[in-house]
Amino acid sequence: MRQFLIAGNWKMNLDRAGSVTLAEQLAERLNGSDGAEVAVCPPSVYLDAVASVVKGTPVVLGAQNLYPAAKGAFTGEISPGMLRDLDCTYVILGHSERRHVLGETDEFINRKVLAALEAELRPIVCVGELLEEREAGKTAEVIQKQFEQSLAGLSAEQIREIVIAYEPVWAIGTGKVASPEQAEEVHLHLRKLLESRYNHEIAETIRIQYGGSVKAANAKELLAQPNIDGALVGGASLKADEFMAIVEAAPATVS
Ligand code: PEP
Repeated sequence: MRQFLIAGNWKMNLDRAGSVTLAEQLAERLNGSDGAEVAVCPPSVYLDAVASVVKGTPVVLGAQNLYPAAKGAFTGEISPGMLRDLDCTYVILGHSERRHVLGETDEFINRKVLAALEAELRPIVCVGELLEEREAGKTAEVIQKQFEQSLAGLSAEQIREIVIAYEPVWAIGTGKVASPEQAEEVHLHLRKLLESRYNHEIAETIRIQYGGSVKAANAKELLAQPNIDGALVGGASLKADEFMAIVEAAPATVS
C-alpha cells in the first residue's frame, strides 16, 4: 500500500507572516484527517517559523534544497543536519529550476540524495523532460538517464526512503498540465525502472508524485491514475483553499 503524498513547493514566495498563516490554515484544516500525507516546503529562512506551527499536527515539513556536506566553508549553503535540526522530514532535490536555472547536474543531485539519506532526510527527487525532448520522442530516454544517474548507488534500503516526482519541465508553472495518460505512461516507466534495478516489491512501495501545473480542477483525474501516488504542487500550494482541494482529491491509499 502506498500512502498519497501531496507536497507544496512554496519556492521563493511568501513572507514570514504569509508562511506562518498558510501553515496555520493547513494545520487546522488537516486536523483529524486520515487521508493523504501532506508536506509543505517553505523557503529555508522560514522553515523554523513554519516548523513551530506544524509541530504536533499532520503537516510535515520539507526543505527545497541542501548542500551535500555536513559542515564547513560553503558560504550561503545549508547542510542536511541543519535541516534535520529544523524538523524537516523531506527535501526536494533535482527540481527543474535548480537543474536549468542553477545548472545542477545529475551527478551533483546524486551527491545531495546520498547526503540527505545519510542525515535521515527523505529526498523527493525530481525528474522530467524538456518540451523539445518530448517532441523529439526522447522522454523515456531522458527519464531513464536522470533516474539512473541521480539515484546511482542507492541500496534497496535507501531507495525505500525516496519519493520520485515526475515533473515535465514544460508543465511547471506554465499552466500546461500533462494529460493523465501522458503522466501515467512516464510513471509506469519509472516503476519498471525501479523493478528492474531492485525488485517488484520495492517498485510497488515507492511513491511517484506528478508535478506540473496541478490544481484543484485537474488533480482528481491525475491522482486516479494507477501509478500516480501524489502531487508536487507549486503555484497552487500558495492558497489554502486550492491546496486543500488537491489534498481532498487524493484517495486515502493506493493499493
Ligand atoms: C513545482 O514547482 O514543482 C511545480 C510543479 O510548480 P507548478 O505547480 O506551479 O507547476
